[in-house]
Amino acid sequence: MSKDAYAAAVMRGSTHGQSARLAPAAGTSQALLLLGQGSDAAAEPGVDCPGELPAASDPALVERARAAKAALGDRLFVLGHHYQRDEVIQFADVTGDSFKLARDAAARPQASYIVFCGVHFMAESADILTAPDQQVILPDLAAGCSMADMAREVQVRDAWDALAAAGVADAVVPVTYMNSSAAIKGFTGEHGGLVCTSSNAERALRWAFDQRPAGTGKVLFLPDQHLGRNTAVRQLGMSLDDCVVYDPARPDGGLTPEQLRRARMILWRGHCSVHGRFTAQQVAAIRDRVPGVRVLVHPECSYDVVSAADLVGSTEFIIDTVAAAPAGTRWAIGTELNLVRRLAERHPEQQISFLESTVCYCATMNRIDLPHLVRSLESLVAGRPVNRIVVEESVAEHARTALRRMLALPASATSKP
Ligand code: SF4
Repeated sequence: MSKDAYAAAVMRGSTHGQSARLAPAAGTSQALLLLGQGSDAAAEPGVDCPGELPAASDPALVERARAAKAALGDRLFVLGHHYQRDEVIQFADVTGDSFKLARDAAARPQASYIVFCGVHFMAESADILTAPDQQVILPDLAAGCSMADMAREVQVRDAWDALAAAGVADAVVPVTYMNSSAAIKGFTGEHGGLVCTSSNAERALRWAFDQRPAGTGKVLFLPDQHLGRNTAVRQLGMSLDDCVVYDPARPDGGLTPEQLRRARMILWRGHCSVHGRFTAQQVAAIRDRVPGVRVLVHPECSYDVVSAADLVGSTEFIIDTVAAAPAGTRWAIGTELNLVRRLAERHPEQQISFLESTVCYCATMNRIDLPHLVRSLESLVAGRPVNRIVVEESVAEHARTALRRMLALPASATSKP
């Protein structure tokens, strides 16, 4: 099957059965593993799944999930991120982006168990915002986020030292994208900053600059350089020269004290491995192939891509924009493929295609599959929860401050071309 044919099959949802277990290549010792079948302790240290995982081929999985949900009743609240698989989303009580789900988790005090079908940092945020007696469950602990992993606390503390050495730390307010660990959120709250999402990054940046006398403030934006740059330049009217990129792999971030003093936005060198695949060349190519196409992308894409697109916004913005469009609208959408597929199914009256020609699922979002969800729900019914996410209170205290500053922001304006 060619790459293009496979991408088309994925959009049709007809790839089941295509990906059998692959034999080890010559000279390698480990076969590739299907999701939910086996584990590679060397590649996934610390993420073993205690207990039996149901077989993905079990025809009773849907019925088992339904029965477990019914048995748990109001004690259970299932959150589903838009990038999750259909087989999981069908069991979500609410769906949304990370901002909406954080609010929804905080607003459900009667639920004893919050099963978060998303990735690790989202479950951490839910644990931080919910009561101590509420248990947050992540069905697969290997569902992390490569972007969140690009900023570790020790690196950020080193960066703060570099800012202090350059004499600018007092002017800097840290802002971290929701897609960061609890430790980074804690650092941000401890240093007077807040969390943002792609829905409210503009409001969050305006709030941060308002914390310092006019014209003197700087922002350290973690960990997604693209969201930070796109928001600062396209929505706050800064120039690209106002932004510098701090590379944690280089001494002092690879920046001179003078560069730090001149910058208004200090962008962490992180990115999303999924949205980083979209290119301005792909935008040009699809405009050639599909006359009148509207290109709609997420702000985790690079500045070149969002500049070439017609519309830019969060997943909620993308969903609402497509829903409001007239029949016959042609779209090329640059965000995670599960969401684009779902939009195409939901809006057959529109012509919706994926911006990239090759498959672009978020691998870690896809770790949450039906066997993992069933195992989570049945373990709750049995009174033996597995994969509970708990954030230490010493970290949670400051992270909660940063999250609550975000939740207190006025409703965010959506993005524009
Ligand atoms: S889509 Fe990107 S930012 Fe979102 S969870 Fe996956 S890797 Fe992280």
